[in-house]
Amino acid sequence: MLDFATKPAVEVSASTGPRVSVAAGDGIGPAIMAAALRVLEAGGARLRLEPVELGEQVYLAGHTAGISDAAMDSLRETGLIFKGPITTPQGGGYKSLNVTIRKTFGLFANVRPCAAYAPAIPTRHPDMDVVIVRENEEDLYAGIEHRQTNEVYQCLKLITRPGCERIVRYAFDYARAQGRRKVTCFTKDNIMKLTDGLFHRVFDEIGAQYPDISKEHMIVDIGAARLADSPERFDVIVMPNLYGDILSDVAAQITGSVGLGASANIGPRCAMFEAIHGSAPDIAGQGIANPSGLILAGVMMLNHVGQGEAAARVHNAWLRTIEDGVHTGDIARAGATRETVGTEAFADAVIARLGLTPQRLSPVSYEGDTAVPIPPLPERKPALRELVGVDVFANHSGTVEELVSRLRQAENRIAELKLVTNRGVKVWPQGHEDTFCTDHWRCRFEARTGTQMNKAVVLDILQRLNKAGVDFIKTEQLYTFDGEPGYSLGQGQ
Ligand code: NAD
Repeated sequence: MLDFATKPAVEVSASTGPRVSVAAGDGIGPAIMAAALRVLEAGGARLRLEPVELGEQVYLAGHTAGISDAAMDSLRETGLIFKGPITTPQGGGYKSLNVTIRKTFGLFANVRPCAAYAPAIPTRHPDMDVVIVRENEEDLYAGIEHRQTNEVYQCLKLITRPGCERIVRYAFDYARAQGRRKVTCFTKDNIMKLTDGLFHRVFDEIGAQYPDISKEHMIVDIGAARLADSPERFDVIVMPNLYGDILSDVAAQITGSVGLGASANIGPRCAMFEAIHGSAPDIAGQGIANPSGLILAGVMMLNHVGQGEAAARVHNAWLRTIEDGVHTGDIARAGATRETVGTEAFADAVIARLGLTPQRLSPVSYEGDTAVPIPPLPERKPALRELVGVDVFANHSGTVEELVSRLRQAENRIAELKLVTNRGVKVWPQGHEDTFCTDHWRCRFEARTGTQMNKAVVLDILQRLNKAGVDFIKTEQLYTFDGEPGYSLGQGQ
């Protein structure tokens, strides 16, 4: 028997089947992992489990990413990770373990099914059946942040064309493989026209190749409001990393509890399966945590490794258990719950129902399911790139007029000062006296009509700025790509 509740190690549980790196996690992790593994084993899963160490103790032992080298090697070899939730210690210097694993192993797609289980678990939205496909590697999660001036901090939002193409195609292929009818895309491209604009454009381009699937795009704010208000109108939703992170928790909570949510992190060679919730330190050690999210993540993992029969057996037994009113405290509701049980007893109840199917909820079958293909990264002819200007960011605590008089000293035969903005708002020429200004200014130089910008001109501008006493803190070159500006235009231009 696997004893995850008392020790984080596991024995090899079967002599056949794929190898899986298993990490119990922190807080409620060991208890729900023990419960989930018991259910999967009893359900007929064939998995060769390999315990790995990651999480809080590894962080505290001095590994800033929370994972030992041996664990990293194991993940590399098995390519399959079943993971309990991790506690990231408070304080600086600790990197997110999940982000490290996702990026190291190229787990670009985060798939989170969020379905209501009414009437077994009453919810305001009994017909909800949404799958959120979240981009998992890019966006604001690059972890590139800077304090640039006394007042201003910056976080880089990186969105790439290959990243968008891969996740959007995966979402459409997923919809097709799962017999789903619609893919919705959420972005904020009315504001972030280049980054989110690219995600939206790729959605339109790739969506056109899937005439059998309906598609729609929504600005993320109204999309989020509708998801919370009428989730039944959505089917598959694809979105960039940050929106997906937030909204998949919202969606899971709407189904009844975050304790129900499971997720798959999918890459070309590796995959990681986990519950969506955290280590729940407030209830750790009490034996009351809901192991459902991890059990359902196990179901996703069994499907991933082609053990659909065992996956369906476990999933149907789980559905029957909640339908019979055997609930952990987080999903217990008057009128629906017959017996409120702890983690172990819940696992026992699922095991006792293996071979049964639900009677009111729809039973699942994974027979004949096709694997979702991993989209190849397409070759693309590079666009023609032309340097047309430079944005110089300056630290300056005085007035815009003082700054501009110094900036003008950096103009040369080719470059002229075109624009100064503060927090993205134009303050020169023709600024507005009410605009609040910080100490962080963007100063745009462009090539004069009939001249051509080059890097030597950029260096000359910087040297002149240095002489004029402008405290520049970073530069961004302005390029056009096949004639299209690759930069946002200054507000008011
Ligand atoms: P959390 O998800 O751990 O808990 C939020 C609330 O939901 C708590 O009240 C908790 O008791 C409840 N809850 C969560 N899972 C439950 C379950 N299975 N059964 C019953 N109730 C459950 O979120 P948090 O408190 O913000 O985070 C705690 C720690 O977990 C933090 O260190 C955070 O960094 C970490 N975390 C890890 C992961 C991960 O490893 N994938 C994800 C999210 C948070």
